[in-house]
Amino acid sequence: MISGKYWPAHPHPLPGESLSCWIVRTAHANGLKVQTFCDREFGKDFQIWNRDIDRNAPEWLLAIMSDKTGTPIKQVRNTTARLYEKRLFPKLHSASQLRWFMALKKKHRTHKGYAQQYCPLCLKEDDEPYFRLQWRLALYTFCTKHRILMADRCYHCGGEVEFHRLELGKANQVKVETLDCCWICNKPLSSAPIQNVNLYPKLVDQRWSNLLESIDRQLYPAGALRYQNITLLHQFCRLLSSGRYRPRLSKHICTSGHYSQPELKIDSVIFEQRDIIERHTLLQLAWWIMTNRNRIKTAIHRKAVRVNLLYRDLDPDTKRYVIGLLTH
Ligand SMILES: [Zn+2]
Ligand SMILES: [Zn+2]
Repeated sequence: MISGKYWPAHPHPLPGESLSCWIVRTAHANGLKVQTFCDREFGKDFQIWNRDIDRNAPEWLLAIMSDKTGTPIKQVRNTTARLYEKRLFPKLHSASQLRWFMALKKKHRTHKGYAQQYCPLCLKEDDEPYFRLQWRLALYTFCTKHRILMADRCYHCGGEVEFHRLELGKANQVKVETLDCCWICNKPLSSAPIQNVNLYPKLVDQRWSNLLESIDRQLYPAGALRYQNITLLHQFCRLLSSGRYRPRLSKHICTSGHYSQPELKIDSVIFEQRDIIERHTLLQLAWWIMTNRNRIKTAIHRKAVRVNLLYRDLDPDTKRYVIGLLTH
């Protein structure tokens, strides 16, 4: 362990930075490889990169990061999915799927699945390119600052984003120049082509942008963006991701809202595991129906969706809210 109250270099988390990115930057700032730093400071028995540290980091690890960098523990906790507890999902847990939070599929320190998104322009403009926690969210499909679609892989080689592997297995390399780099082909991630986002109708644009902006600012969304409504939005995303329930619902929404029918590569897979284009497309349909409760009532009336599917698996409070929404 490096002695002293603080590590010689102890950068603080940048705005919205994820824990994993902050650890990588701290290791490099101290002139160490990520693996060497983690073995020394967190112990060889605890392999950070075999788990999803941004989702479920143990309290002792957060305490070390707080003590050795002089960062308040609350700020440290906000670099992990704890930040979204009671905002986007009811409770943080380690079992199976967490609502809206994209899962890394782990295999010997390699992530499979495209669960780390990025905005090419944010990375390009950062003085020190870094990865934000909110970029792990399935509903975060565009950057509100640049109004462009997020990217979920390297444009050049199709590889997943794994900024902790940039110097792994390279004997002579400790330092990395920038995290804006693909660990497989070394090309800048920020060189991905830009795809502008145009959302319609206007209310869909407003609600969706407002939600992403409040997530950026780490606020509790309220009013139309209250927790229960975001939960119901997720129920629609779930149904639209299901090969069984999508056809009628999607046909109804696309006809009424003048959208073209989504073309999906895989018929049935959970929303959080779909790629950026599919999530963005399905979210537009879900937001369209969510921006006016009469649209939901009409969809039920026309048998495009069964009402019990809308509150299936919800906690009692949210279930009551949904029933109230549809009966008044
Ligand atoms: Zn951006
Ligand atoms: Zn690449």
